[in-house]
Amino acid sequence: MNIAIDGPAGAGKSTIAKLVSKKLGFIYVDTGAMYRGIALYFLKNNIDFLVEENVINNCSNIDIELKYENKEQMIYLNGENVSKLIRTEEVGNAASKVAAIKAVREKLLSIQRNIAKENDVVMDGRDIGTNILPNADVKIYMTASVETRAKRRFDQLVRTGKETDIEQIKTDIEQRDYQDMNRAISPLKQADDAYYLDTSNMTIDEVVNSIIERVK
Ligand code: C5P
Repeated sequence: MNIAIDGPAGAGKSTIAKLVSKKLGFIYVDTGAMYRGIALYFLKNNIDFLVEENVINNCSNIDIELKYENKEQMIYLNGENVSKLIRTEEVGNAASKVAAIKAVREKLLSIQRNIAKENDVVMDGRDIGTNILPNADVKIYMTASVETRAKRRFDQLVRTGKETDIEQIKTDIEQRDYQDMNRAISPLKQADDAYYLDTSNMTIDEVVNSIIERVK
């Protein structure tokens, strides 16, 4: 069984998808982490990812692997566990840039489809219901107001000890929404058969339960 959860940055997808997958005994697949892993490669190696040719030419040098350790998804970039390193705004913003490039999306498409084929998954991202798993059993489009999303990201970063400015986060989110929704390939949009969930005024439990209801 496959559950697809799409939505903009900071909508709460990963928190919810983790809880839903735990309740159902499914594997949680965070596809954003894969794009972040690719972005990190360019940042680490000081390669200008805004030059499309650089990204295309380097794609074959990048190996992205998902592994599960204590049921937690780990992301490996060329053999190195980068699961923590990818959790910065800088990497998230760079991920949104490289994610617009066809060669990058093609590279990740087959990895994502294969995992879903071999396992019961809750997979979150931007194009899961529309492109990666068009036949997913349940599709959710999860969103929240920009203010709510910025506040959630801010709290998350503060919890992990990273200093941030909420206004800057809001600007980044708006820019990321624009890029993700307006790119030519696999833009973020609600699939026709996806269930729309605005989580701005919902508790985590309410969101989780409303998804579980759809699965039953
Ligand atoms: O969800 P997260 O913020 O980790 O994703 C980082 C970026 O990766 C997004 O802004 C988006 O541009 C890209 N992404 C994507 N397709 C996915 C998942 C993430 O384009 N399925």
